[in-house]
Amino acid sequence: MEAPSADGPFQINGRCIDCGTCWQFDPQHFAPGPATAVVRDQPRGQLETERALLALQACPVAAIEAPPALRQHIPRDGFPDPVCEHPKGQVFYCGWASKRSFGACSWLIVRPEGNVLIDVPRWSAPLARRFEALGGLSTMVLTHRDDVADHAKWARAFGCERWIHGADADAAPGAERLLEGDNPIAIGSDLSLIPTPGHTAGSLCVQLGQSRSVLFSGDHLWWNTAQQVVVASRTYCWWDFQEQINSVRRLLDLDVAWLLPGHGHRRRFEAGEWGRALEQTLAWIS
Ligand code: SF4
Repeated sequence: MEAPSADGPFQINGRCIDCGTCWQFDPQHFAPGPATAVVRDQPRGQLETERALLALQACPVAAIEAPPALRQHIPRDGFPDPVCEHPKGQVFYCGWASKRSFGACSWLIVRPEGNVLIDVPRWSAPLARRFEALGGLSTMVLTHRDDVADHAKWARAFGCERWIHGADADAAPGAERLLEGDNPIAIGSDLSLIPTPGHTAGSLCVQLGQSRSVLFSGDHLWWNTAQQVVVASRTYCWWDFQEQINSVRRLLDLDVAWLLPGHGHRRRFEAGEWGRALEQTLAWIS
């Protein structure tokens, strides 16, 4: 854990809920502290300051403070922030985290078959304008019951279909499409929904592409940078951890280039590395 915040214009106030949004997005300047996030290092120069200001904007509870003279420089079109390119689509992190989903990450896939929102940010008119400029939203996928945030408002604004697993469907009343059972389904030529029950009964992962794919894992799995391991957490399992272990096993044979979770760090994997990482995870938790 880090020492108290570095002296300077960016500070963390008592509203911090320790959601991790800031230090996952901008680890150069923010870090986990003993109880709340801390400012690890004050930004220097325009680019670093803009990154820290976007972390401030992403924070779900306005816990990052900066003087008004700095805040007026928050980039208008900073989110969505590009993460990776896949032959089937470009992936962005949406920022604007919601307290209702404890700051969980939401992701946008811009693709020829129609753009997809994976989990949901808090409602933001500036972000909606950016989505519009990128082609709108045709589909929304909710990975599980905890990260639905303002789903109804986003769905209404863009007239997009919402997918959620039937076992978690009560968290998103009005969702147009329900996935049932344990079998993966394709919802486009390049996009699959893979049921991964455990964290919740209706948890699912979303896979973009098959080769060197991008896996959106909700709270089923995430990357722990300090320990260099893929985490399936018993502590944060709300339903059935043995089922979660079984669900980890089902992902072993995927070819994953990027892991993009709801919480925890994102990670890029070299060819062949994913399977070895999951074997290590299973050895720890089984
Ligand atoms: S994003 Fe906000 S609430 Fe979350 S850890 Fe950072 S300061 Fe705390």
